[in-house]
Amino acid sequence: MNIISKAIGVCIISVVAYLSHPKFGAVPRGGRLARILKSQNYKNGEFRNRETINSAHPPSRVLRKIIAVNQSSPKIPSRYTRLDSLDPQADVLIWFGHSSYYIQLNGKRIIVDPVLSEVSSPIPNFPNAYQGTSVYQPKDIPHVNFLFITHDHYDHLDYNTIKLLKFDFAICPLGVGAHLERFGVKKAKIIELDWDEVIQIDGFKIYCLTARHWSRRRYHRNQTLWASFLVETPTLFKVYIGGDGGYGSHFKGIGDKYGPIDVAFLENGQYNENWANVHMKPEETVQATNDLRAKVLVPVHFAKFSLAPHTWNDSIERTYQLMKGQQFRLVTPMIGEAVRIKDDHQKFKTWWRTSGKSLASHKSRRVKTQMKQD
Ligand SMILES: [Zn+2]
Ligand SMILES: [Zn+2]
Repeated sequence: MNIISKAIGVCIISVVAYLSHPKFGAVPRGGRLARILKSQNYKNGEFRNRETINSAHPPSRVLRKIIAVNQSSPKIPSRYTRLDSLDPQADVLIWFGHSSYYIQLNGKRIIVDPVLSEVSSPIPNFPNAYQGTSVYQPKDIPHVNFLFITHDHYDHLDYNTIKLLKFDFAICPLGVGAHLERFGVKKAKIIELDWDEVIQIDGFKIYCLTARHWSRRRYHRNQTLWASFLVETPTLFKVYIGGDGGYGSHFKGIGDKYGPIDVAFLENGQYNENWANVHMKPEETVQATNDLRAKVLVPVHFAKFSLAPHTWNDSIERTYQLMKGQQFRLVTPMIGEAVRIKDDHQKFKTWWRTSGKSLASHKSRRVKTQMKQD
């Protein structure tokens, strides 16, 4: 009995020690919490969506399918473009896979939700990045002006990346600054915004806008806010950073108020009926692009980490198929491929078919096998 008690004690101490690692972030306190308590979006101890969500947890059979998808490990085609060799005045975009991307616009360097680690959760080896996707390391990223974090999920906010990045300002939704400070970011660099707040830096207008999602870093849900952002350059070019989020009436509201939008980055992957309100199906991503009155869609949130049981290239292929008759342009770079943001004629390959087809069907077979076992 004594040995069992000691073993339990050691286990508890180990878990507490593990959870005290800075990667788990921190809960908002003091002045930060006081500001949160005043937010209209914070009620009864948590942030709330404007449109309610069905927050059902995924059943274990869905989790088993996700694990099966991850284990299939396709090799994703990618390129490497040196960021420090780009003309600093060029308007360029480089996608790093999933929801991480780098933008140069009007002479400013911007990075969004950079997750350059091999794993996007605190669980070892799950989900691992697909082969071929870890092209960029934090050392490859030059000093950036604006670091955007859309919310505190591990596939968007990565301790190992953030602690090595050099940047002027971190712009994030309310409460996320607590995590960043725990990571070692100086308070003076952190700009936290509530929905519908706007700031102006060096002629850039940055609007923090609604998203339909949720948050959690450690124990409790929704202690920090989730958001989308609109960046308006001094020359009135508008980029929408969608972050994570389900389809909702907010897209039309944003489009009516701020549209037309020049480029929209929207999530396009990791959907499932079990979390239909907090992630979009490809058909909804296309509808959201139209609601936003966006001229260009850059689909993200796929091709690096699988967090849902669909095949890795299902979302991009479905979106591609939906493009007939659409008024907007679909921009589909490979990881690491330089996109000339203001060039309407740049062509992109259907790279997810050429290299991924056999791998995807291989994965499909594995998923079907797994489903039969459920
Ligand atoms: Zn998320
Ligand atoms: Zn995500």
